[in-house]
Amino acid sequence: MKSKSLEISIVGAGIGGLVAALALKKRGHKPIIYEKTESLSELGAGIQLSPNANKVLKHLGVMEELQADVYEPEAFQFVHYRTGKVLAQRALKNSSVKIYGSPNYDIHRADLQKALLKIINKEGIQIEKNSEILDLYEDANHAFIKTKERVIPSDVVIGSDGIHSIVRKKLWGG
Ligand SMILES: Cc1cc2nc3c(=O)[nH]c(=O)nc-3n(C[C@H](O)[C@H](O)[C@H](O)COP(=O)(O)OP(=O)(O)OC[C@H]3O[C@@H](n4cnc5c(N)ncnc54)[C@H](O)[C@@H]3O)c2cc1C
Repeated sequence: MKSKSLEISIVGAGIGGLVAALALKKRGHKPIIYEKTESLSELGAGIQLSPNANKVLKHLGVMEELQADVYEPEAFQFVHYRTGKVLAQRALKNSSVKIYGSPNYDIHRADLQKALLKIINKEGIQIEKNSEILDLYEDANHAFIKTKERVIPSDVVIGSDGIHSIVRKKLWGG
């Protein structure tokens, strides 16, 4: 049986919100992302893409976009902060695929966000910028999010609005 296609409001266009939108679209739902900032700045430092993250990115068709920007490190090394002596080491290259079925990469966060946005645009997923969500509530049929100007109904609301999440605060307190 085909499941119902849901209208889904996603609060926040960080890595979490962008990936959630792509995954939901792939399952036949209709996500719209609401982002409080006016432009999505491609900021950040290097982050690790662990094997489980890379499985998801491959499934969502993002990995091909990333291939030119990733670096596959040889190993993790934990070194003593003062002497530089290697205290522990774990091989990554080659062994990640063998053990977890997927590689371990490093990437600049801006490159990851750029690739996600490219696929988001390709999939025609709407991002409503300059839309700060101030409140949310539900009735028997819908979940609602509220900006300064309007109330937006949908079937589901997903909070991916970061560490100071308004969605989490409204649902469970600070
Ligand atoms: C120094 C550092 C190193 C890290 N290294 C790694 C790593 O190696 N590997 C790894 O996996 N992770 C790493 N992380 C963690 C990772 O970067 C974060 O977990 C991830 O970016 C969080 O993404 P997010 O989408 O949940 O939130 P965010 O990136 O914070 O995005 C939240 C979005 O919601 C928007 N927003 C907020 N409130 C509202 C609102 N009320 N209405 C509308 N929009 C709103 C914000 O503007 C923002 O765009 C690191 C983090 C740091 C700080």
